[in-house]
Amino acid sequence: MIRPDVMPPPQTPVYWLLVLNNQLIDCASLDKGFAPPLIAVEELMDAEQRYTAQMGEYRGVPVFLMICDGTESLPSDWQWVALRQCLLRSDESLFTLAARACQITGFLRTHKYCGVCGNETSQDREELAVVCGHCGLQSYPRISPCIIVGIYRDDEILLARGVGHPEGMYSVLAGFVESGESFEQTLHREVMEEAGIEVEALEYIGSQPWPFPHSLMAGFIARYKAGTLRLEPTELVDGGWYKLDALPHTPPKGSIAARLISEVKRRAGL
Ligand SMILES: [Zn+2]
Repeated sequence: MIRPDVMPPPQTPVYWLLVLNNQLIDCASLDKGFAPPLIAVEELMDAEQRYTAQMGEYRGVPVFLMICDGTESLPSDWQWVALRQCLLRSDESLFTLAARACQITGFLRTHKYCGVCGNETSQDREELAVVCGHCGLQSYPRISPCIIVGIYRDDEILLARGVGHPEGMYSVLAGFVESGESFEQTLHREVMEEAGIEVEALEYIGSQPWPFPHSLMAGFIARYKAGTLRLEPTELVDGGWYKLDALPHTPPKGSIAARLISEVKRRAGL
């Protein structure tokens, strides 16, 4: 459990995820891996006046979040980089911690006031939450569940390029869970809405938090059952059935989409 406002022990170098909105401080140049500062708390200005919390450990060293407000004076060779940059330049374990740090920062930034009475909130001392001192409403970080599904038919997989996705990048279908839906209901509804087909033999494969801004992807594979492919043009610009041994450009290793695609291939003996 993440406890708010915890400081590292004195004189001990730890990794610092310094976060300003959705950006983090990076000590490495952009052609190298993402490198958060590894320093003792005394080397950071005003650390005791800012929100800090331990996010976990990386290579056996504690990793702390400190929320910045842009007024900090930082060494000139440190730079702000977007969280998406960290995704491309860090291993999965470090990215997971950076993603968590950005989500907590986003939560605190967007929950300064109570959603019921509009009074200011304060941070709960015991858990990751904010509390309204006026009416007592407690609010927790928002997590938005999605389903993502690799649909196969014989030796083919359904891939499509979403509106706003990089040119030439094809992925499996995904969609947000709506209020009151199960994952299975979401999956059948999304696949029908986005592709006009029915699926069967749903299998859960795994999940992945996706911090843009606060999704949690539940990954499935499913078999085509019936219907004619008809891609929803407001969501998908291009796509179709692709032979598993001749796929277009697909999402990078480490993403849940890549895991689903490789699972479908593995079952087809590829
Ligand atoms: Zn309130």
